[in-house]
Amino acid sequence: MKLIYDLKATQTISGTFVYTGNCYLLDDQYNITIITNMDQIEELKAEMELTHNRIECLDCKNKIFSNTTHDLKHCSCGNCWVDGGLSYSRWGTKERSSGVLLKLIYSTPLKED
Ligand SMILES: [Zn+2]
Repeated sequence: MKLIYDLKATQTISGTFVYTGNCYLLDDQYNITIITNMDQIEELKAEMELTHNRIECLDCKNKIFSNTTHDLKHCSCGNCWVDGGLSYSRWGTKERSSGVLLKLIYSTPLKED
């Protein structure tokens, strides 16, 4: 099972972010369920592992990954950054950037027998 964040975060004039897009659950049969309840998202995340931590800068279109915990990466225009590797996802932008596309994937850990 995978929990996928496919969100666009754009900045308003006041500097806050507006999120558009979807957060959805993909089961092992590839059925998609759109999740809109933040509490449910947090519950699902708690049982899963981050397996993909990527943002795309809306200014330079650079796609950047953070691979390890202290792997802080900037896009080529310098407007956005991502950090945290597969431990957590942290990202940010400069004040006047257009924003980012978030592509985060959380997966159910493989069970050992
Ligand atoms: Zn950029």
